[in-house]
Amino acid sequence: MKAAVSREPYQIAIEELDDPIPRSREVKIKLEVTGICGSDLSLFKGKLKIPRPVVLGHEGTGTVVALGPDVTSLKVGDRVVCTIIGHCGQCFQCKRGDYALCENAPMFSGGMLDGTTRLTKGGEKIHQISYQGSFAEYSIVPEICAIKVGEKTRLADVVGLACGASTGLGAAMVRVPVEAGSNVVVYGAGGVGLSVMIGAKANGAARIIAVDINPAKLETAKSLGLATHTVLAGTDDTRAFVMAETGRGADYAFDAVGLSSTTEEAMTVLRAGGEAVVIGHADGKIEATIDTVHFLRQKKLTGTFGGSIDPHVHIPHFIEMHESGKIDLSCLMDRQYRLEDLPQAFEDLSAGRITRGCVVFD
Ligand SMILES: [Zn+2]
Ligand SMILES: [Zn+2]
Repeated sequence: MKAAVSREPYQIAIEELDDPIPRSREVKIKLEVTGICGSDLSLFKGKLKIPRPVVLGHEGTGTVVALGPDVTSLKVGDRVVCTIIGHCGQCFQCKRGDYALCENAPMFSGGMLDGTTRLTKGGEKIHQISYQGSFAEYSIVPEICAIKVGEKTRLADVVGLACGASTGLGAAMVRVPVEAGSNVVVYGAGGVGLSVMIGAKANGAARIIAVDINPAKLETAKSLGLATHTVLAGTDDTRAFVMAETGRGADYAFDAVGLSSTTEEAMTVLRAGGEAVVIGHADGKIEATIDTVHFLRQKKLTGTFGGSIDPHVHIPHFIEMHESGKIDLSCLMDRQYRLEDLPQAFEDLSAGRITRGCVVFD
């Protein structure tokens, strides 16, 4: 099968791999649309580490074409969205419903849930990201990570629910549910930041203040009817703006960027008792200096993985909201690519020329 393999940072090329075979409780998916996520870009650049060679791509959607032994919940022909939230369903965290924290799902290991890999090229072992590796014609995915969707669901609209859109929606609706009438600041108006805004708006936020260094992204956030206010980072004084607008500071700040500067500032724009949620990881590791007074003012600083959703509950729920017109997820995707075009796609994403792109397969 054809797959985009990355053998070193900043390199990716199409290679012919062996046809992969699903093992116990795994399914083989023929990809239809795969989203191109910010973390694929971080992995491509080597800012996030993963064993190579690797097939990136972790927002796969498509059709089940083969079943491994012991698969009970899916059949050949089912259309699925593959979630990044690998989970065993058995461990301490899974039993509490904290699937994003599953103790048996290693992040960025390059392997499947059991640590082994499924992809090969002759004798060579090839890794895959997030138990998917969906920049390929076919993916092997744990059955528990493939969420069945309706026959009429447009996969190109909901592909982001595999990772980016679920991460943003879940941050504002599941991890730290925004209350109606709240004041919300969102750092980063890319795909995840816009998804946070969609979630905050759906929950009835009064003000959604988008902060970004890119005026075009702020314009998008506003023209989509998501941001009520925008702040151009590096030029405007975000804290002064938020204080003037809200009177006491924001109830919630979501950092969909993940730089020292954004995480530090997120704490300063909060009201006493407010909560900041770090979602982005533009840099693998950040050093942030935080005035301990923020903690004396009982502000909270937390994070989320994948929006902390229960994929089997929230992905169908988000699809239902989209299909009934309560939210619009199709606005997040603004360019389609062929598998061969991934170097260009990464360049466009890196330069901020697109909000989100996707690879469309034949
Ligand atoms: Zn992602
Ligand atoms: Zn688990």
